[in-house]
Amino acid sequence: MMMCVECGAQSERLIGGSCASCFAKKTELLSAPLVLDVELCAHCDARLIGNTWNDPDEGVPIQWIREEAVRGAVRSHAKVHAPVVVLTESAQDEKHSTFTVVMTGDVDGVPVEARREVLARLRRSVCDRCSKMFGGYYAAIIQFRATGRDVRPEEIQRAHRVIGDELDRLRANGNREAFLTKSGAVPGGFDYYIGDIEAGRILSKEVARRLGATVIETAKLAGRKLGVDLYRVTFLVRIELYSESDFALYGEEIVQVLSVNKGRAVILRLQGNKKDRAEVEDLKRLGGPDVLQEAVLVSHDATNFQVLDPVSLKTVDLPKPVGYELEAGATTLWVLRHEERLWLPAVIPNAWRASLK
Ligand SMILES: [Zn+2]
Ligand SMILES: [Zn+2]
Repeated sequence: MMMCVECGAQSERLIGGSCASCFAKKTELLSAPLVLDVELCAHCDARLIGNTWNDPDEGVPIQWIREEAVRGAVRSHAKVHAPVVVLTESAQDEKHSTFTVVMTGDVDGVPVEARREVLARLRRSVCDRCSKMFGGYYAAIIQFRATGRDVRPEEIQRAHRVIGDELDRLRANGNREAFLTKSGAVPGGFDYYIGDIEAGRILSKEVARRLGATVIETAKLAGRKLGVDLYRVTFLVRIELYSESDFALYGEEIVQVLSVNKGRAVILRLQGNKKDRAEVEDLKRLGGPDVLQEAVLVSHDATNFQVLDPVSLKTVDLPKPVGYELEAGATTLWVLRHEERLWLPAVIPNAWRASLK
């Protein structure tokens, strides 16, 4: 046993000559600033810690962010074993809150408690990412185009969804630069301006994978900063000329192109409703849902539809393709009119529904 230099009590172990309770009395067991500035981005609630901005987790309320900031600013003394820190907040106004911080633990088995008050001041500024984003900064452009035709509205909608979902995923995985600065329609397609090159690469690959497209990447020197070359990268995402079920002429015949692979197409002949194969260069594209016209359905029986030709307004008989499902209550049919003849598409993909209204 040893004797405490302060109170004379006998103790198993001394800390700097003092027993644990005297040590606790004279030592700052809990250090905390009197005032803590919590700097948050006015746009995205990211918090400045040191020199870096940190995104909050999805949907975290401001009180939690404040509490976490205070928690990060208080320190328990190293001699305190198993410290438990409890915070109680009392809000003064929208920007000021007083936190009562209570730490309990033990020093060499002697229970100790310390208490501090911290005034948390909320400050709003703009984070590095948001100032780039609102300043129009971008490092990558995704040019969404099609081969030999315009990109269709439903293809643009699908690309929008892929890009939105992927940006969310990339940000959730910690890429703060995965943002869209601006986007807009251009002749023939759509452009997306992205804050980060790697994000642009991932987004274009995903759009290409989902929509059946190729990606061509080109880098351009955009300037120098602190002796480092800065590049701006363009990703040209080009979808195929033939989208699923597009119409084409094969010789004199009208076909729908079901799929294309390395210059070879699987086609469906509208005459006789038969599948076949063809070289893509032997096909002449007529179009997609954009070339369909709505024809009034006059009557139908087991084998035929009778429709009104939308141009000549004559009644025309169309043989019912095998397995053709007429929607309940349908008063019109979508037809392809080519050289004065009407054709019923053998396939109407779901992706066309948005265009056929
Ligand atoms: Zn003592
Ligand atoms: Zn921000």
